[in-house]
Parts: sequence; C-alpha cells; structure tokens
Amino acid sequence: MAKKYDFDVLIIGSGPAGFAALEAAADLGAKRIALVESYKRLGGECPNWGCIPTKSLLQTVDTVQHCAGGGIFGVKSCGGIPDFKAACMRQRQVVDMLTGRGRLEKIVKDLGVELLRGRAEFSGMNEVTVGNNRYTAKRIINAAGTRTFVPPIPGLDTVPYLTAEKVFELNQLPASVLVIGGGPIGVELSKIFAIFGVKATVVEMSDHILSHEDHEAAAIVADSLIKLGVKIVAGAKVGHVKKTRAGVCAHLDIKGGQPKRISAEALLVATGKQSRWPEMQAEKAGVMLDEHGYPQLTKYFRTTNPAVYAAGDATGHPMFTPVAHHEGPLAAYNAIKGDQKTIDLRVMPRGTYGDPELGSVGLTELEARRLKKQILVGRADFRILSKSLVTNEPIGMVKLVVDKKTREILGGHIVGHSAAELIHTVAVAMQGNLLVDDLAEMIYAFPTYAEAIGVAAASLE
Ligand SMILES: Cc1cc2nc3c(=O)[nH]c(=O)nc-3n(C[C@H](O)[C@H](O)[C@H](O)COP(=O)(O)OP(=O)(O)OC[C@H]3O[C@@H](n4cnc5c(N)ncnc54)[C@H](O)[C@@H]3O)c2cc1C
Repeated sequence: MAKKYDFDVLIIGSGPAGFAALEAAADLGAKRIALVESYKRLGGECPNWGCIPTKSLLQTVDTVQHCAGGGIFGVKSCGGIPDFKAACMRQRQVVDMLTGRGRLEKIVKDLGVELLRGRAEFSGMNEVTVGNNRYTAKRIINAAGTRTFVPPIPGLDTVPYLTAEKVFELNQLPASVLVIGGGPIGVELSKIFAIFGVKATVVEMSDHILSHEDHEAAAIVADSLIKLGVKIVAGAKVGHVKKTRAGVCAHLDIKGGQPKRISAEALLVATGKQSRWPEMQAEKAGVMLDEHGYPQLTKYFRTTNPAVYAAGDATGHPMFTPVAHHEGPLAAYNAIKGDQKTIDLRVMPRGTYGDPELGSVGLTELEARRLKKQILVGRADFRILSKSLVTNEPIGMVKLVVDKKTREILGGHIVGHSAAELIHTVAVAMQGNLLVDDLAEMIYAFPTYAEAIGVAAASLE
C-alpha cells in the first residue's frame, strides 16, 4: 500500500525547541522524522547568535571588571579595554564547540532523522515546501523561532543598522552606538559595548529600561550601566533616523519634553521579536494567527490545524531557551500520542546579564497589584551582608512578593552578583509550594549572598 505521508513527523527549526522535539519524537518511536533548517548551522538562535555568544562576551566583561577591582585585594590591577578580536575568537570557539564540527548533524543522523536544508513554508494542510520540493507529514511541529522585530521608523530602511545577530559577526567595534530598545538584549549588549570602550546610548520607549522586570531591580541595573558610561534616554521614541557622514542621527520624541537628536557611528536595533508564521504562509495550512502573528494554540500546543503544532519562541510564549527546551518534547508527545501534555509557566526563572545580573521568577510587585492581589513585600539589601563586605560587591538586593493572606511566594527578584543563580532558591520554594516563612526559617550558609533571601523573607511589610 502506498504511504500516505512522506513523514510521520516533520519538525521545522533545529533550535532548543525543534532539537528537543526531534529527540523526543525518536524516543517515542516515531519512525519517519524530518528536520528542516534554513541556517547554515544547526542549534538555533541560542547557541549561534543569542544566549551563548552574548554570555561568552559578557565573561570577558566580567573578567575585566573583577580584574579592575583587584587593587583593593592586593592584586595588581589589570583593567583597561579588553581585546575585542581575542574575545570574539573565544566567543566563536565556544559557539563552535556547541554547534560546529558536525556535532549536531551526527546526532540527527544517529537518530535516523532526515535533515532537509532550506527554508520551509506551508503549502497545504499536511504539507510544507522546502526549496523546490514538497513534503507531506502526518504531523508538523513548527519550532522556527522568531526574527528580530524591526520597527517601522521612518528612515531606518536607508541607514545601515545592526541586530544582535550581526554584532557577533563584527571584527571591529564602532566608536559609538545608539541602541534602540532597553530590553534584555539592549541592556546586555550595552554593557558589552561600554566595557569595550564604545560610547553607548540606549533609547527606551517605556519610562524604565527592562520594563518587564521589577522596577526597583531594573533601576539598580540602570544606575550601574550609567556608572559604566552608558547613556540611557527613557520615555523616548525614535521619530526618524538619518544617515550622516559619521554614521547615523536619530531624532527622538521625548515624553513630556523637548525633542532631542543623538548621533552615533552605528545603530543597533534591539526592539524585540517578530513572528515568522506569516512569512511561512501559515494560512495555506489553515493555521489561524492572532493580531501579533502568533498561532491560536490550545494548551496542548496544537494550532487551528489539528496536524500542526508549535513549540518554543514560535508559540509567542515567553521567549527563553529553557521554555523552548521544555515545549519541544511536550509538543512532540502530543503530536504523536495525542493531546495530553501541557506546560506550567508559573515558575520560570530567568536571568538578564546586565550590570549587575538580574534574576527573577514569578510576578513583579506591579503585576501582583494589577491582579488585585493583597501582597506583602520583603526586601534585603546586599550591603547588610558580610559576603558583600568580603567581596567588595555591595550592589544588589533581594525582593520577594508574597500573598498577604496565604503567605504564598508570588515572585522573587534578585539583582547583584550571581543573581541568576541565586533566584533558583526562590524558584524551588515556589515550585514546591513552600511558604515565605519556610524561606525565613531556613538556615543559610555563611557568608553568602543567599542569606539575603532569608532576610527578605523575614522582613515583610
Ligand atoms: C542576543 C540574545 C540573547 C539571548 N539570551 C538568552 C538567555 O540568556 N537565556 C535564554 O533563556 N534565552 C536567551 N535568548 C532567547 C533564546 O535564544 C530563544 O528563546 C531560544 O533560542 C528559542 O528557541 P527556539 O527553538 O524556539 O527557536 P530558535 O532558537 O530561534 O530556533 C529556530 C530555528 O529555526 C530556523 N528557521 C527559522 N525559519 C525557518 C524556516 N522557515 N525553515 C527552516 N528553518 C527555519 C532558524 O534558523 C533557527 O535555527 C537570547 C536571544 C538573543 C537574540
């Protein structure tokens, strides 16, 4: 009997979501699996042009900062501007260790998965086109991630601009850069620019950078960035941009103020992400999209076409690697075995590696208040810690948001040294449904930054 479909499962995108989906599909016994990837390397955004290259360059930045502060400990200070070429070489080596040398291709081959190189587009309910070829599949999982959102700023199409992806391809840095967008990517890259001696100005439309984070925590990051020499212009919208002989000039409309002009040698657009579904002809597969271009999904990751599932950034859910990595296998399970698995995003710790680091989980104080929750807030400043005295790194705080009646921990926000690691203590407590009193009563090792979590938990107001 002729096969009805070319594949049992066809996965679009080899990022954290797609790759985890294909490993799960193979584990679940799916026989004919295909993976489509349009980029020259497998692995997706995170290792190739996202998390890993940024964190690798940030490691150079942190090393410089530690070194520069060495004098107080009797270590000969070795600050100064680091070597960008050497840092890039290290960054590229790390990326290569993860996604180069045919490492991921070998896994795909060993799993018996057919790798299709090219850009996939939907061409029917159970069909995608890659180049000139059409493939049918019983189930399709779209894990194609997102692309950088480029806002419709007049003049932007006439000036050369960088995106996060292009920054990692640079061999030389500009003398100055105007960063449009004060979200996590804008903040992390500005810190990198500042330490490498680039004059960075961040323009942010909201009243604060990191507008989705707790405002007190974000304010600490903003202060530290300013001390590093980064200029922050918040509450400002780029009206239009123009090419100049020295680079670019942006005309800013300032909320409640006079318009401003800022010139820089280079422009970086870091204004968030955009759905790929429309460009992938989702309508040809009967996938209905919301007003942002993301699919209408059931809690089982199924689109309005019962044969098409989504996972990772392509869902429009919070866009982080661990979420993508969790969603891939869940979508694969549902696609193969039937809709059963869902994801709970209540406890989803995340890190922003600005200056200093910010780790957060759950609701911010503002979000909790908007949800009309009766809350208590506990705070502890790192300055009170012996650890901070020893390390000479006093900047930081822990903030806990707690339900007043039930004493359930609704959210935690930590800024300071190792904040993205520390936040996991709060996340584990939330995951295990512990109460804030459990965190207050726990014994913490001394001297540690983690002690501040206990202090915050014991000082609710
Ligand atoms: C600068 C930066 C820093 C980041 N830092 C962090 C961090 O520290 N921590 C964190 O958790 N997250 C971070 N992220 C986000 C993280 O990279 C993403 O959330 C994660 O990669 C999403 O995984 P995904 O599998 O859903 O999609 P992706 O990783 O985007 O993978 C999608 C894949 O699909 C391919 N593709 C796209 N369209 C098609 C098509 N039509 N046909 C075939 N293939 C296609 C793409 O080439 C890509 O390989 C960062 C992102 C950026 C840009």
